[in-house]
Amino acid sequence: MKIGDFKLKQRRINKSLVNRQARAYADSNPKLKGVMSLYREVFSVQRKLSQRIPDRLPHLDESQAFKLVEEGETLIDTRELPIDAALAEELMRELAEVLRKKSEAPLEKLEEFLEKELAAEGLRPLIDAFLERDDEKFLGLAEGYSLEPAVLYMLTHLTLAPFMWKAAVAATRKADLDQVPKGRCPVCGDLPIMGFLRSEDGLRVLECSLCGSRWGIPRIICPFCMNVDQGKLKYIFAEGDEKRRAYLCEKCGRYLKVSTAPGERDEEFVIPLEDLATAHLDLAAEEKGYERGCRTVFS
Ligand SMILES: [Zn+2]
Ligand SMILES: [Zn+2]
Repeated sequence: MKIGDFKLKQRRINKSLVNRQARAYADSNPKLKGVMSLYREVFSVQRKLSQRIPDRLPHLDESQAFKLVEEGETLIDTRELPIDAALAEELMRELAEVLRKKSEAPLEKLEEFLEKELAAEGLRPLIDAFLERDDEKFLGLAEGYSLEPAVLYMLTHLTLAPFMWKAAVAATRKADLDQVPKGRCPVCGDLPIMGFLRSEDGLRVLECSLCGSRWGIPRIICPFCMNVDQGKLKYIFAEGDEKRRAYLCEKCGRYLKVSTAPGERDEEFVIPLEDLATAHLDLAAEEKGYERGCRTVFS
């Protein structure tokens, strides 16, 4: 059996699956209890509100999708994605409430942001800057708010993700993303949160940190700088747990975590949970002076 014999399956996750797996992670490591329960609540709010985001018809056919992927273009232009700002604002308020309730350190200024600033400015400018991936613009806007820019970024990310999920489901139906040697998501252009090795054949699959799409890439490559020099790519793992690794790239100084899929159905492997459950690898890589490739959801 060789790599590439299987069409890449996209993730299929729902609330009960996330709840079940989050509990299993917390049972296997009680230290994860807090963060697992936080993720469950965040996901639950995202899922609930996402039901009010209209389903999108695939706006492209298979040959168009094939051509876009071949040419290295994304299937979705995030700047053109219609986002209902009122629904997004409602979602952001519910997410903020979850964070406020669950966060150990009280999130300073959250109330002021929600009650005064967000009410006055609306969410549209932040949505636009985020989807244009204009970090400077986003940071410039963030200066006008009392929230920490990192918290504001995280909230915006969590708020926009369900809109991206919906669009990505429509787009990936038309494309086979089994072999896409790209470091950025072929669907929306964002960076991978982490990767896993597919059960059937060990293909390295990355999952997008924003839209959740998956794509297969060669094993020996750094997705952040496309370095293929084996001498400059090494990996670390915790003793006794070699199936979860952080690949460190000496060329760009960033790292990617890659876990072996637990088997059975890869579609049900909840990567954001696995990401939280492997925070010890983030710490170890950061201690060695490496930086996480994508901006994270919770850290
Ligand atoms: Zn994506
Ligand atoms: Zn690199």
